[in-house]
Amino acid sequence: MSPEEVLLKLLNSGGLSDLQFSCKDVKVKVHKAIVCIQSPVIRTALQGNFKEAASRVIDMDSFDPDVVRRFTEFLYTGDYEEFPAPDTPKAGPAAATTKPEGDGEDQDKDSANEISSSNESVASGDSSDAEHIVSRHLLMNSIGDYYAVQDLVDLANAKTQSLLSNSVFSVSALLSLGETAVKVTGDKDVLDIIAKATGRVLALAGDAESEVDIDADPEIDIMARHEDLLSYFGLRLLASCRREYRIRKDSTDHEQWEDRRAIQQYENRIAMHDRAVMNLLNAKQCRNQGCDPPYSFMIHPQKGEVICRRCRWVFDLCC
Ligand SMILES: [Zn+2]
Repeated sequence: MSPEEVLLKLLNSGGLSDLQFSCKDVKVKVHKAIVCIQSPVIRTALQGNFKEAASRVIDMDSFDPDVVRRFTEFLYTGDYEEFPAPDTPKAGPAAATTKPEGDGEDQDKDSANEISSSNESVASGDSSDAEHIVSRHLLMNSIGDYYAVQDLVDLANAKTQSLLSNSVFSVSALLSLGETAVKVTGDKDVLDIIAKATGRVLALAGDAESEVDIDADPEIDIMARHEDLLSYFGLRLLASCRREYRIRKDSTDHEQWEDRRAIQQYENRIAMHDRAVMNLLNAKQCRNQGCDPPYSFMIHPQKGEVICRRCRWVFDLCC
């Protein structure tokens, strides 16, 4: 047997297990040696006076059972099964880890953790399906981030990146995914990935000859605290739009008289985005005298505007 087959057999049989992942009615038998070498968070929980050290159970109730199952699969195989599109019936092996409460103590039962080693690819033709699947990869990022398994965070991000590159997403879907990412993970890399994809669509929609429609007002709420992840996402969005305009400007022929106007327009947009970044970094309170705290702000990444959420005051660096 190859080392990979040995690990898969260990996982699927649950044999020699000395630790359990518990998520609602799913109990997965795992092995400390394999888990702890990859997750410093779980390793710490199993040392000292934490309750997990005595119970040998890691409570994962705050995650979805499907996410915990794939988390476990990743720890043993370095990959996880693709998520099915919504309303697709679960594959047979997926149900095998679901065991009723109280049936997880039998160490000798074979196939306790039966997990499919095959990765079914998901057709990504339908954009709402693709959006749903990206949101699941964000949850894989989330559990990887929570237990400090960086390789899982990176893998989930690669899958997210691939879906964002190969499917057409609306701006509202991308912004919604960005806001989801802010809520579920502390990982900034995935915010960069989503911000870049959003910038591409926003800039495309701004092209004169483009037929891309923006399906919603592409504003995003940015809270007043500059250090928070939503503000970070907003800054990355502005940077992403700016980069798209820069690419368009650089690829425009400087010799052609009619193109000089286009170049000037791109330069204006780039300058607006630079101002918006400065405004966002400096926006501690609304500059409209009639406005009251608490202040929070929105950005319009396409226009490069920072807007007071309360009074709709549009910030300008000169004020
Ligand atoms: Zn205001």
